[in-house]
This record gives sequence, structure tokens and C-alpha cells, in this order.
Amino acid sequence: MDAAPSTRCCIVGGGPAGMMLGLLLARAGVNVVVLEKHGDFLRDFRGDTVHPSTMMALQQIGLLEKFERLPQHRIQHLAGIVSGHTQELIDFRGLAPFDHLALVPQWDLLALLAAEGRRYPNFDLRMRRMATGLIEEGGRVVGVTMHEYVKSDAPAASDETLRADLVIACDGRHSTLRAAAKLAANEYGAPMDVLWFRMPRADTDPQETFGIVDSGHMMVLLNRNDYWQAAFLVPKGGDAQLRTQPIEVLRSAVSTLASFLADRTSTIESWDDVKTLEVQVDCLGQWHQPGLLLIGDAAHAMSPIGGVGINLAIQDAVAAANALAELLRGNDPIPESALAAVQARRMKPTRLVQRVQLTMQKRIISRAIAQSGTPLTVPPLVRWLLQFRRVRNIPAWLFGYGYGREDVRSPVFPPPG
Ligand SMILES: Cc1cc2nc3c(=O)[nH]c(=O)nc-3n(C[C@H](O)[C@H](O)[C@H](O)COP(=O)(O)OP(=O)(O)OC[C@H]3O[C@@H](n4cnc5c(N)ncnc54)[C@H](O)[C@@H]3O)c2cc1C
Repeated sequence: MDAAPSTRCCIVGGGPAGMMLGLLLARAGVNVVVLEKHGDFLRDFRGDTVHPSTMMALQQIGLLEKFERLPQHRIQHLAGIVSGHTQELIDFRGLAPFDHLALVPQWDLLALLAAEGRRYPNFDLRMRRMATGLIEEGGRVVGVTMHEYVKSDAPAASDETLRADLVIACDGRHSTLRAAAKLAANEYGAPMDVLWFRMPRADTDPQETFGIVDSGHMMVLLNRNDYWQAAFLVPKGGDAQLRTQPIEVLRSAVSTLASFLADRTSTIESWDDVKTLEVQVDCLGQWHQPGLLLIGDAAHAMSPIGGVGINLAIQDAVAAANALAELLRGNDPIPESALAAVQARRMKPTRLVQRVQLTMQKRIISRAIAQSGTPLTVPPLVRWLLQFRRVRNIPAWLFGYGYGREDVRSPVFPPPG
């Protein structure tokens, strides 16, 4: 009888966490299988803000030049228009070695990591393979069940198994493996959901990426060169009710907030052009079990404030590779203490950013989207402080570089030819 297929490490999920970790482990000489349920990386509004912490990791593995050749828009500073008053808020200028964040289609970043991974014979990326559960023996995770990913109306594919000495769940905020492992998350809540849509940009439009708060509405406009990527905030759960109304309701709110877009709101043809991000902020109390580690959104879903999700996922991947690559190159079981060490390194930076996000949600966003009739204003002391670039550097540093930033220390073996 044939032995069941097996690998040293199985990573579930080919998002930023899974692709970066797969590449780092393959580069360190570990046999790694990455399972990604979709057939490609092409999904719109998936999160595109690449911060300096990610650029530094890419530089450390020799991918920065290729990354900089990807289509992108660089942002050095961000302003808010609060009840008609323009206020500079966040400034990357003066920070080193990168004085900007980059808006890069996430599929381009993932394709870059996949292409680099494929240079290593021990990197096995399997697209359209969806993990469905965990295999456990003697209180330890020893693999996953999986099948070909089929659309929900197609006949279900039959399950196969893949045994692995270590399973790493990078399967995002709706993690199948988190549910299978019955790991409990602390839910921190959010007052808002985000409606994402795009609108054409004209040459006469503002150049910068900025946020606008007025009349109980809030919208962030990200300059994507030929179009605006718009994030329109609605009170939590308000999306379903809004969608029962004509699309003109959204168009009119957009025109009120950004009058320069009034001539093209008809490009939002229907609610089908609008994608909802249900904002979720949570963190697992424990990110591991014997034979299983969770990282990225599977361990901690982030608020969209600061656009940190991709970057924290990549930092988790770097920390996991640093801690586990050498152990995975051997043949011994991976001790749970090594998995706990990954959580110990990443918990503090994650919770620090979440605390800042939760404070901003409570103090700014809840008030900005409340239809109370009282206009939101920037307090005079805050306005005075924000005139100093070094003060505006603080949020840029926190979101862009982050407390506890990880340097790539996992080895390269064999050296790439
Ligand atoms: C609409 C939207 C906008 C966002 N905007 C931003 C932003 O501007 N900036 C930012 O930094 N972050 C943003 N985020 C968050 C960001 O996308 C995530 O924080 C980040 O991608 C997390 O990376 P990850 O690898 O942990 O998980 P994910 O990116 O969620 O990747 C998980 C991967 O696992 C795959 N998968 C899921 N289940 C299975 C399974 N059972 N088997 C196999 N594969 C599976 C999925 O297809 C996916 O490819 C946004 C998120 C959304 C939804």
C-alpha cells in the first residue's frame, strides 16, 4: 500500500503571510507545500498598502528591485479634510530608509513571491487546493484534509489527506483551520464597515491620497494613478439597509464629500460595483497547538485603519521563518515551545497596533459617521502639534515600520543558482 502523501511543512493559504513564509522556508531548504484555494491571486480590493516594514523584508531577500518595478503609487504624506478644514495627519518624509508607503495591487506582490518561491525545487505551491480540516493523532496535528476548490453550486470534490510535521494556518480572517482547532478569539469590535469602489481620476483632480469627513460621512480616496479607490465608511451592519435604497443615495453622499467627483458618480452603476469589507478586529489568545501554528489574519484580524493587515501578516511570516527554519530543516518533531515563541514575539506588536486602531475607532470614526449634526473638528492643541513634521512622523512610523519589526534571519540553503 502507498504511504499517504507527506511534507515537512504544510502552509494553508497563499495570501501575504502564506506566500512570504513559503518562500522563506523554501529558501532555507525546507520542503514546504502551500495550499491556496483559488486558482489565481486576482481579487479586487484585497488590500494593497505596502509599508516600509515589508519593503525592508523584500530588500533583505533581494526582491526590492523587482518590487519597485511593479505598478505602484507612492504616498509620502496623508491629509484629512475635516468639516472643510484641511489637516496634514501622517508624514513619512524624513523617515529612513523608506520615506513612503506604496499602493501595489496585492496580486502583483503575491505573484512576485510565488515566482521567487518557484526557483526553489522544494517549494510546492498548489493552487485550487482547499484545506477542509485538520488530521489529529495522539493530541497532535499531523496534517490536513483537502480537496480541489469548486464553486458552491458544483458537485463537492472528494477529500484527500496531506500529512505534515507542521501545519501553519495562513488562511485569513475566516480561517477554516482556526475553527477546526477550536481556538478562541478575543473580539474587540468595530463601529464601522467599509464600502469599497473605484472611480475614474481626472488630470485636474488632487494628486494626494486623503480622507474626508463631513456631515456624518467619512470617505478615504486612494490615488491609484488612473482611478480613485474609495473607502466609504458606514455604521457597522448599515450596509444591508443601505443596499435596499437606490444607488443614488451613495452617489449623492460621494458628491457631497468630494464635489470634484460629482460629474462621474454615475460610474458607480449599481450596488454590484460596491464591495463590503465587514470590519473585524480580533486576536486569538493562543496561536498554536502541538503541530499547528496560526499567523496573519487567521490569528488576528486587523482594523483597516493604517492599512497594516498585509504588513503585519508579512512580519508574522518573517518571525515564523526566523524561529522555525532551522528546526524544520531537521527531522525531529517541532516542539510546541518553538511555536509559542513565535506568538510571544508577535503578540505585543499586534496588540499595540490594535489598541491604537481601537482608540481611533472610538474617538474619531464613531463620531465621524454619527449623524448627530455636530460637525467633527480637530482640537486646537492637536492641530498645533500636527504642524510639526516629527509629530506627523509618529503614526507613519507606528503603522509603517512598527514596534518589534522583524529582520529576515532565516538562512538561504541551497544558495540560489
Ligand atoms: C476589502 C479588503 C480591503 C483591505 N485593505 C487593506 C489595505 O489597504 N491594506 C492592508 O494592509 N490590509 C488590507 N486588508 C487586509 C489585508 O488584506 C489582510 O490583513 C492581509 O491580506 C492578511 O494576510 P493573510 O495572508 O493573513 O490572509 P489573507 O490575505 O486573507 O490570505 C488568506 C489566503 O488563504 C486562502 N484560503 C482561505 N481559506 C483557505 C483554505 N481553507 N484552504 C486553502 N486556502 C485558503 C485565501 O484564498 C487567501 O488567498 C484588506 C482586506 C479586505 C478584505
